[in-house]
Amino acid sequence: MWDFVTGRNIKRTRTQHICKQCGKPIEAGSPARYLSGKYDGEFQSSYEHVECHAAWQAFRELCGFYGYEETPWLWDDYELRYDHQDWLKENHPIVYNRLFPASVDHPAPLHPTSVGA
Ligand SMILES: [Zn+2]
Repeated sequence: MWDFVTGRNIKRTRTQHICKQCGKPIEAGSPARYLSGKYDGEFQSSYEHVECHAAWQAFRELCGFYGYEETPWLWDDYELRYDHQDWLKENHPIVYNRLFPASVDHPAPLHPTSVGA
């Protein structure tokens, strides 16, 4: 479990990162949300698109979840994928298009190609 997690906004990333929420690249020079913390005694850090972070926070509030334990990453969330796609499309269209690209007949989020920093 998470011992602690902190997050801060970055105005421009220096290098490309993979967004933990959607699995898509955050291009170098883009704003991002940087998370760091301790999970089961190990230090971890990750990056998120600012839009994905906002959508994830809103989704937690929608579902009444407030801890990191209760809500998986957006790409991994069963309820979001099956019950709240319309909500995401309406409220967070940028994130919706990252998770459920229009070119895919049977939308399924792509798993991140890498985890961590
Ligand atoms: Zn993202």
